[in-house]
Amino acid sequence: MSNIPQIIQLEPTNACNFSCSMCLNSSLQQETKLFFPLDLFQRLSQEIFPSIKRLVLYGMGEPLMHPSFLEMLKIAKANLSTNASLFFLTNGSLLTPKIIDRILEESLADEVAFSCETLTSKDSSKVGHSLKVNEVFSNLRYLLNHDHRSNIKIGIETVLMNSNYKYLPEMVKKLGELGADYFSVSHLYPYDSSLSEEVLYTMISKEALIILDELGESGWDFILGVTKEQFGKKMQLTFRERYKHKENIKTKDRPYSEKYDKLLKKAKEMNVTLNIPLYMNEREKIERLEELQNIFSRSKDNAKDLGIELILPSIFSEFKNRRCPYQSIDATVIRADGEVAPCFKYLYDHNSSLNQHERATSSHSFGNIDSQPFASIWNGEKYRRFREKLNEMNKNIPFCGNCSLSSSNCFYAIEDTSDCWGNEPSCSECPYSMNLTRCLL
Ligand code: SF4
Ligand code: SF4
Ligand code: SF4
Repeated sequence: MSNIPQIIQLEPTNACNFSCSMCLNSSLQQETKLFFPLDLFQRLSQEIFPSIKRLVLYGMGEPLMHPSFLEMLKIAKANLSTNASLFFLTNGSLLTPKIIDRILEESLADEVAFSCETLTSKDSSKVGHSLKVNEVFSNLRYLLNHDHRSNIKIGIETVLMNSNYKYLPEMVKKLGELGADYFSVSHLYPYDSSLSEEVLYTMISKEALIILDELGESGWDFILGVTKEQFGKKMQLTFRERYKHKENIKTKDRPYSEKYDKLLKKAKEMNVTLNIPLYMNEREKIERLEELQNIFSRSKDNAKDLGIELILPSIFSEFKNRRCPYQSIDATVIRADGEVAPCFKYLYDHNSSLNQHERATSSHSFGNIDSQPFASIWNGEKYRRFREKLNEMNKNIPFCGNCSLSSSNCFYAIEDTSDCWGNEPSCSECPYSMNLTRCLL
């Protein structure tokens, strides 16, 4: 394992001038707004930036809200090696022509992405980044038509929800025509149950879905049938000793149980378990996802015609491909107060609502760079062991998406202090590891 990660994501501030419906920033309403101290940034830059490949500047806030953001870019550029890249993600509202001129003329960044879920303000009551759409697009146009445009890679990042997915092909077309280099799409990470309706994916893996589809609509009858048969079997065994004519006992046909055994056998061969209750609860949504396939393919056609790179999340995700997006590219995150977290998801205490239940997740830090050198945190025993487990997620970490307890009051899935295999913190219910939700890194 490397002594320093290749990619550092650093949060300049958690303050934001927007309040997007799908963002934790809006529901956290932190009393204390954090701004990364400039002297600490300077110290960190000298300590590790010469050795990393990429610096990513954003977190749970708008980077340009930091009063010294341009100064941070300058410091970073002065310390990063010449082949390293500097990227930041912005809502675009504060990236005014004056600031764009400075960034491009002084080559202060190599890549920037605008977050955007809508093209117009009129259909935007429910979707994110709906504030100041016109100003944001005017800034984006200015950037895309700048004389020094070739100095910088320009992308768009969008969060896909029930409220906006139908507009995706049109958005790809319009932003491709404007001249953006790439369009990156993520599914929604639902921070509370009111957002559950907006989620366009299931956490059940593709391998398990193929087997569960054999149940079709009869899933609840099937569960009841298996339960009745197993109850009858148990009763027969319990009262067997009292029967007068034991020789007359015949083995009864148990068709539901036989089918269940067959499904379990298949599931075992595919190395998955079957979350039948979740499948039944999400069946309608799963069927609707076929429409999303169609939307994705139209978006791909538009992207191809216009030469814009389109990066899409999975619609149905494979369990065998489960991996941590941070660990797989050797990345870490530093919060605006210096706490070092394993990923964006662990930056702040929050609730989430997946698999038909609320989950209370606490932030997780492996140390603070204000009190110890970054390298000693990254190479510390706890962080090293955590990353080792992530190298083989399916061997070391259970997966709630395929577990029938996830929608049936599993204590671990609700409380999230650890998972049922004792991992702490736990990654057992992480949609980022299934390539459903995605962070731009
Ligand atoms: S999604 Fe971005 S712009 Fe919107 S509230 Fe969150 S941090 Fe601010
Ligand atoms: S919660 Fe997900 S993204 Fe975060 S460390 Fe775990 S697997 Fe990686
Ligand atoms: S934590 Fe609970 S829901 Fe998740 S895999 Fe373990 S038992 Fe199942």
